[in-house]
Amino acid sequence: MDETHTQAPDGEAERIARIRAKLARMYPDATTALHWRTPFELLVATILSAQTTDAAVNRVTPALFADCPTPEAMLRLSEEELARRIQSIGLYRSKARNLLATCRILVERYGGQVPRSREELMKLPGVGRKTANVVLSNAFGVPAIAVDTHVFRVARRLGLATGRTPERVEEELMARLPREEWSRAHHWLIWHGRKICHARNPRCDLCPLLPECPTGRKQGGDGDASEAPRPARVDRKA
Ligand code: SF4
Repeated sequence: MDETHTQAPDGEAERIARIRAKLARMYPDATTALHWRTPFELLVATILSAQTTDAAVNRVTPALFADCPTPEAMLRLSEEELARRIQSIGLYRSKARNLLATCRILVERYGGQVPRSREELMKLPGVGRKTANVVLSNAFGVPAIAVDTHVFRVARRLGLATGRTPERVEEELMARLPREEWSRAHHWLIWHGRKICHARNPRCDLCPLLPECPTGRKQGGDGDASEAPRPARVDRKA
C-alpha cells in the first residue's frame, strides 16, 4: 500500500479496501472506451469527447485518423473542413478550432509530439485538467485520476469523496487510494457509473458494493442514492 495516502479512520480503511477489491473483480479489464493508437490520437479523441459520448467520438475518429494521423497532417485541413468531418458530435465548431490551434502548438513547440507534463498539456487549447489526466495516465502511464461526471458521482455516493468540485474530488481520491491504482480506479468508477450506478436510477439492487455504500438504497430504507451529485461548477475545458 502506498504510504502517501492519509490515514483513514478505524474501519474506513477496511471499507475502502473492500470497495477496491470488489471493483477490481467487477471490472478487471476496464480501460478507456475511446479508440486510439498513439498519444496524438488519444489527445484528439479526448478533446472531441467533451460533453459527447465516447461512442459518438469513435464513429468519427477512424476516418479522421486515417487521413490525419499526425498534427502536421491535421493542419492541412482548413477549420471548415475539419468541422465538417466532426459535425456529428457536440460543439464541433469550437472543437475544430481548438484542435487546429493545438496541432499548431504541437508542431511549433514540441516537434509534433504530445508533451508529457500536466502543465504543458493544460496550456493546449481545449485541454483541461481532466483531458490532461486521461492522456497522462493512458498514453504515458503516469498515475492520475481524471474526474468526469461518472467518477464525480460514484466517488461521492460511495463516500470516497465529499468535495463539490472535480478538483477537490480528485484530491480526495488521490489521498485515499494507492498511487499505483489511480489510473485503474478512474476506469473502475467510470464503468461502475455506466453499468450500475446510473445518475438517475442507480441499480443498488444489483450492486455488489451495496454493503459498503453509505448512500445505496438498502433493504429497510437506509440511505438514498436517487439524487445524483453534480459538480458545483462545470469546467468548459474538459
Ligand atoms: S449501492 Fe447504489 S449508490 Fe451505492 S455504488 Fe452501488 S449503485 Fe451506486
